[in-house]
Amino acid sequence: MNNVHNFSAGPAILPNSVIKKAIKELNYGKKYGISILEISHRSKEFIKIVEKAEENLRELLKIPKNYKVLFCQGGARTQFAAVPLNIIKKEKKYADYIDGGYWSNSAIQEAKKFCTPNIIPVKYLINNKTSILPMKKWKIKNNSNYIHYCPNETIEGISINEEPNFKKKIIVADFSSNILSYPINIKKYDVIYASAQKNVGPSGITLVIVNEKIVENVNNDIPSTLNYKILSSNKSMFNTPPVFSWYLSSLVFEWLKYNGGIKKIYKINKKKSKIIYNIIDSNDFYINNIKSNNRSIINITFKLYDKKLDKLFIKEAYKANLVFLKGHYIIGGVRSSIYNAMSLKSVQYLADFMKYFECRYG
Ligand SMILES: *Cc1c(COP(=O)(O)O)cnc(C)c1O
Repeated sequence: MNNVHNFSAGPAILPNSVIKKAIKELNYGKKYGISILEISHRSKEFIKIVEKAEENLRELLKIPKNYKVLFCQGGARTQFAAVPLNIIKKEKKYADYIDGGYWSNSAIQEAKKFCTPNIIPVKYLINNKTSILPMKKWKIKNNSNYIHYCPNETIEGISINEEPNFKKKIIVADFSSNILSYPINIKKYDVIYASAQKNVGPSGITLVIVNEKIVENVNNDIPSTLNYKILSSNKSMFNTPPVFSWYLSSLVFEWLKYNGGIKKIYKINKKKSKIIYNIIDSNDFYINNIKSNNRSIINITFKLYDKKLDKLFIKEAYKANLVFLKGHYIIGGVRSSIYNAMSLKSVQYLADFMKYFECRYG
């Protein structure tokens, strides 16, 4: 496994040491006598794990005390529905939805079932470069309940790096692919959600970080398993949680803390992305036409100057142990997802391969 470099967009690479720990735990169940897959979520052993998980996550992201951390189920797509259900008031059914790519648009399609989204397109072309409208130009409505956006569009590799600053507005953000990759100023948001399988752990668990004010005001007539108030008062155990995904995520938090936390990983993430973007920008062989300040540092997309070469690139890369580089089918090309667990060394390996491929076929 060690010499395979996994660029999957999700479920994605996990730290090797975390996998090793989990294997050991499953084989011997040393800590508990029985393995983590077989214990009750109500057992004191598991409670200890989840309490530590929350403590570590709070420390890593510097989550203020007046925010609840919920470990939910159903992935980000379930939050597409849970967000309007939890926030929208009956008499006021409007919400601002920023459309910046595939995932924010998917959130809009789901929200239409529960509210009237004011759809705000923010992606535009300037000098042949894809760019995102600055926040101060977003056409926010006065009568909306909240603003929803996605800071990192996983499929296109587009990111919105500005911090939201909208007075008296509830801000909701889908951080599925970039949570824990850089320091987030949590106070600027009211609801942050992220499914685990990109940068947190295996699929199954979904993080929701939510301002207490929202939690207190949730309508009681929404489905209980989506209700932030019920989830919070039951410590995210209203129904049986995905125990293993929660456990493994707790190991990832420990790993991240041990490796210097968010500031450190952010520095490495920037460095990693720079290595790849530098090669892309060195000439016209590889193409990424996203304006530099909107380029994702986590999901890097590119095409080859000759369309026919995309397939060959992915095929040859696979032979060189660089796997899951195929772009999402809606945009094609190549996508290299370089989440926290992806080492600088692996990124360098991809960079070397890109140079080799260019020499050979350029
Ligand atoms: C992957 C992803 C989703 C979908 O997550 P699911 O867990 O499959 O529901 C939503 N938003 C973003 C930004 C993603 O990257």
